[in-house]
Amino acid sequence: MELERKRKNEQEMVEKMIHIYCRGKHKSKKGCLCPQCQALADYARARTERCPRMAEKTFCSACPHPCYKPQLREQMKQVMRYAGPRMLLHDPVAAVRHLVLTRSL
Ligand SMILES: [Zn+2]
Repeated sequence: MELERKRKNEQEMVEKMIHIYCRGKHKSKKGCLCPQCQALADYARARTERCPRMAEKTFCSACPHPCYKPQLREQMKQVMRYAGPRMLLHDPVAAVRHLVLTRSL
């Protein structure tokens, strides 16, 4: 059950970050995603669902064996770079948890 909680937590976190990014960069309305970011969110969700390393890793962004396609990986990197610092204002608890998990690798 711990694993499922972790998985769900990661999915929510990633989606939140994509929303922050899309709103800031693509001027999407709150709660909406542009087609490009929607595709990225869908992809990320599918990857997290199928991730075989859920037990040993923390977040996909911190995984030593990322399974993202290069193009989407690049997109995700930009999302993380943009949304990471903003998460601190948006959702400090989750952001700090993310930082701690990412750094503990
Ligand atoms: Zn977008």
